[in-house]
Amino acid sequence: MVDDDLILIDEDDAPASPDAGDAMQAWRVLVVDDDQDVHRATELALRGLLVEGRPLSLVHAYSAAEARAAVEAVPDLAVILLDVVMETEDAGLQLVRHVRQDLQREAVRIILRTGQPGYAPELDTIRHYDINDYKTKSELTRVRLFTSLTTAVRSYRQMRAHEEIRRGFEMVIQASTELTKMHGMQMFAQGVVSQLCALLNVEPAGLICAQDGLHAEDEPARVIAAAGRFSHLIHRPLDELELPTVQEALANCLAQRRSSFEPHMLLYFSMESGRGLAAYVDVRRALNDIDRQLLQVFCASMAVGFENVLLYDRLVDQAYVDPLLRIPNLNRLLEMLDARLMERADSTLALIDIDDFSALNDTLGHEFGDAVLQAVAHRLSQGLPRSHLARLGPDIFGVLGPSDEVAVGHLQQLLHDAVQIHGQRVRVSATMGLVPLSERIDAGVAVLKDAHVALKQAKLRQRGSAVYFSAAMGQDARERMRLLSGLRHAFDAQHMFLVYQPKVSLHDGRPQGVEALLRWRMSDGQLVPPDRFIPLAEQSGLMGALGTFVLRSACQQLARLRAAGEHELVMAINVSQAQLREPDFVATVQHALVDAGVPAAQVELEITESMAADDLAVLRPLLDAVRAMGVSVAIDDFGTGFSSLSVLRHLPAQRLKIDRSFINELDHDDSIARMVISLGHSLGMRITAEGVETESQRQALCELGCEEGQGWLFARPLDEAALLAWLAERRQAV
Ligand code: C2E
Ligand code: MG
Ligand code: MG
Repeated sequence: MVDDDLILIDEDDAPASPDAGDAMQAWRVLVVDDDQDVHRATELALRGLLVEGRPLSLVHAYSAAEARAAVEAVPDLAVILLDVVMETEDAGLQLVRHVRQDLQREAVRIILRTGQPGYAPELDTIRHYDINDYKTKSELTRVRLFTSLTTAVRSYRQMRAHEEIRRGFEMVIQASTELTKMHGMQMFAQGVVSQLCALLNVEPAGLICAQDGLHAEDEPARVIAAAGRFSHLIHRPLDELELPTVQEALANCLAQRRSSFEPHMLLYFSMESGRGLAAYVDVRRALNDIDRQLLQVFCASMAVGFENVLLYDRLVDQAYVDPLLRIPNLNRLLEMLDARLMERADSTLALIDIDDFSALNDTLGHEFGDAVLQAVAHRLSQGLPRSHLARLGPDIFGVLGPSDEVAVGHLQQLLHDAVQIHGQRVRVSATMGLVPLSERIDAGVAVLKDAHVALKQAKLRQRGSAVYFSAAMGQDARERMRLLSGLRHAFDAQHMFLVYQPKVSLHDGRPQGVEALLRWRMSDGQLVPPDRFIPLAEQSGLMGALGTFVLRSACQQLARLRAAGEHELVMAINVSQAQLREPDFVATVQHALVDAGVPAAQVELEITESMAADDLAVLRPLLDAVRAMGVSVAIDDFGTGFSSLSVLRHLPAQRLKIDRSFINELDHDDSIARMVISLGHSLGMRITAEGVETESQRQALCELGCEEGQGWLFARPLDEAALLAWLAERRQAV
């Protein structure tokens, strides 16, 4: 007789099973016995019974061999009712060994049944093979069988639950490993969605992650990842979901800052910043305890992941976004440029430099300056809807977009009207350099460089103008770059040296002095003329060092000439404007003299007339100081600049050098030479004629009263050995 109470054992208050979703799924029980009757009796005894609310489904095997096949074929076997003696006396025990050891099936419960008590296995075996029960067939009445089976099923269910938890944890761990590879909040959130669905074994459909003002205080909560039927909601603000239930559920979750599972599954990922994320998963089945436990672990471990991704996002933000204007910066523009170049689209890059921005900053304050930049950025982004706007420097914007939009006329139009800053109207003018991208095959950096070249040209032309880059411009700039890097190297590698051009008395040809002239021989043996590399050195800040080198080398050469018996010669040394701006110029001259041990009276510094005209206030005290040392001063290339007479009068110079161009003209027209010579003399200066090439020029200059000459008629610039030879020859001649 069956006790009905027993049949309904604990059906109600049992915790939900791992498969609670399909409550009516049967427990699978394998009956193994070589006796047909036992099968039939078992079937009869168990027919219609429910264990833990679920029916039993029997699988039959009539030998140990058949049983092996059945175990392998049925993965969710809950219990094996096993006869011990079949083909052999221990065929049953062999099967147990096979199930536990070979198949590693730990969850399936085993109840041994035997005809005679003599075949009972050792206690050790029972323990070792995890056998649930051992009964003689006569002991197993219907009720006993049922009780034993119920215990076994419960135990099976528990074992499965443990397995489930372990598998779940493994999945969580794997999920975090997978997810750490994902950068960017959106990608990570998307990953969390799919991992979560895998964990719950549901379709990755219907899941949203909402974010609570993650990047800025006042930012509304927004959907950052969505899957399945929610996919279209990505990026929407939370309050515009048009799904009232989901919307409310997520808002509640964000407000309460914790996960909940009823009536919807809502996960909360809490972050250090005090902000959090909420996920809504559309799980269409009840969640059991294990699900919930796993989800808690999942949330905790993912919260750390979210935190990291947020940090990563911030770093990316800092690397690619201008902090003041919240628009892309240089790095980002370069990436976009590269992408554009790959697309081969008809685009233009424009650099827009706000005119006189630093003056505006200085006079009206930085806050005002920032506001101007903000207003300009706004103007540009509004007026250039199809283009990208970036900030490339304090007052330089970059615009990259279709050529019909990024066009000079349109850009100037955009900035034409004054901007409003704190109720004040401010006119903004900008200078622009543009590069069309069509047919360019180089990288973004090269294009950007060209845009800077064009901008520079525009600035040279006129404030407010715009210049398109041209190939010739690039050639020029590249050539200068090549030369400049060569110049730095040459200076280091001592490829720079001095030659000396004699200056003689026009009257009797006696050597008066020499002028030191700088030379640069490139590694291929070619000489670069000083007219080309000196302006470059001045612009690049190399002239200070180069000038010091010239001063020191020339003084040392003078010392050697003196040692060779040339006691009277004056060493003329050219000085550039950049050298005069060096704070220690006077000291540099002083040291050069002292270190070489030469008298100051034998050194003459040549400054050009244009320098004299430029900056008298700066020049005057410097030259006075040099004069005070005993060094004399000459004005070079006289007649080519625009110095007024008064400037000339105020300069403490002892010599005028008439520019070569006037000497060239002497044969046709000597009026300028005549005027310069008389002017110089009236100011008490001595005169040197530059570039004397012919005897008739010499004679004409002599007649005009010019004392000294320099030029190919007497000697070309010479190196030390040639100079000494030339001097020796001269001494003999005169
Ligand atoms: P400069 O100071 O007026 O030098 C005279 C230039 O005229 C030299 O050119 C010289 O070679 C050239 N010259 C001399 N006699 C004749 C002649 O009869 N016919 C012709 N056609 N040319 C003649 P160089 O050496 O090419 O130097 C050019 C300019 O470069 C110099 O003009 C000077 O302004 C500058 N320079 C040369 N060396 C230095 C230096 O060490 N420092 C600075 N700051 N400038 C230098
Ligand atoms: Mg000179
Ligand atoms: Mg000259």
